[in-house]
Amino acid sequence: MASKPAAALLATDMRAKQVSSPPPYTATGGLSAGSGIRQARRILEQVADPEIPVLTIADLGILRALRWRHDRLQVIITPTYSGCPAMQTIADDIRAALNRNGYTRVEVITQLAPPWTTDWLSAAGRKKLLQYGIVPPAGSTSKQSLRVPVTGLACPRCQSANTEEISRFGSTPCKALYRCNACLEPFDYFKCL
Ligand SMILES: [Zn+2]
Repeated sequence: MASKPAAALLATDMRAKQVSSPPPYTATGGLSAGSGIRQARRILEQVADPEIPVLTIADLGILRALRWRHDRLQVIITPTYSGCPAMQTIADDIRAALNRNGYTRVEVITQLAPPWTTDWLSAAGRKKLLQYGIVPPAGSTSKQSLRVPVTGLACPRCQSANTEEISRFGSTPCKALYRCNACLEPFDYFKCL
């Protein structure tokens, strides 16, 4: 191969392309709609949440659905709470990840109903949160937990239940700041919404 003149090499390559190469990969044309969606979902399952980078948007349940509309891939997302400032970043990250993988026509649609609940947080996501030092939401979708401090949360470091709320809003609006009275370490609590 290496000794062939460049022109001959090019001609061989072109012949090979004409005869045996598969149709060019494009997300909309080269793949069936179904496999294109499956591949897009696998790509999006790697997109990290900008506020809690150990979690993906799939872990959080922000990623709701994927569908083709004509030649456009629509990605349906639901914010963890309305007005979440991270949503623009998430939409940009979704488009960038898909664009990198050949999906050129991508539309990100924000769907507010039904509203996101912490029930959509995956089991794997809850585990990752705790390993990251953020206590995952206690119980399920009790709206009370937004207003009333949650008591008896186990400290992610020493497991003591002797913890108290310091601030209703932690490093981001969807987290509250707690402190452990046993080891005196502060920690974030991912609030139920
Ligand atoms: Zn502690």
